[in-house]
Amino acid sequence: MSIDLRLHAAQRSKNLQSIAHQTTQIDLIAASGIASRSNRMGAAAFRTLEDQRFAPELIRLVSSAVIGKARSQRWRIKRRDELLAFTAAVGAFWLKPYCTHCEGRGVAVVGQLARDICPHCHGTGTRPLPTAKDIGLQDRVDDVRFQRYVREALLCLDGQINGYLSKTKAVLG
Ligand SMILES: [Zn+2]
Repeated sequence: MSIDLRLHAAQRSKNLQSIAHQTTQIDLIAASGIASRSNRMGAAAFRTLEDQRFAPELIRLVSSAVIGKARSQRWRIKRRDELLAFTAAVGAFWLKPYCTHCEGRGVAVVGQLARDICPHCHGTGTRPLPTAKDIGLQDRVDDVRFQRYVREALLCLDGQINGYLSKTKAVLG
């Protein structure tokens, strides 16, 4: 099992079954704890994938990174409230990059039965990236530029989670 699946399982586990299993999971939790000190955003991102109640903390950490990036790269999104709305939209997409109406299946399911092609994603199961219009910035930021900001923020989140998992692996040895 890959490190991210093992760590999700260990964080979820409330009922540790064997001593050997227990030791491994405790090692993993300890290693991830050490990694989270130097990779706070990555740790928050990882936890939030498992349990969305951690989303507010993740968004707070991502906001400061996004605001820093926006200032240093002179983004056209400058106001703090706009950057916060941007972060919330990107964070929501990052957590659920698939069509939320059909859960990425592409078909509308009623009970156990797949009925029709999902009318929201037209059967693709995907969801479009957030747009400037979604957060009311269409008059000030063109689509090409906005999509570049979105991709940078998504890459930042992916990079943080990868950094956290690599560090956890390195601590485990
Ligand atoms: Zn759909």
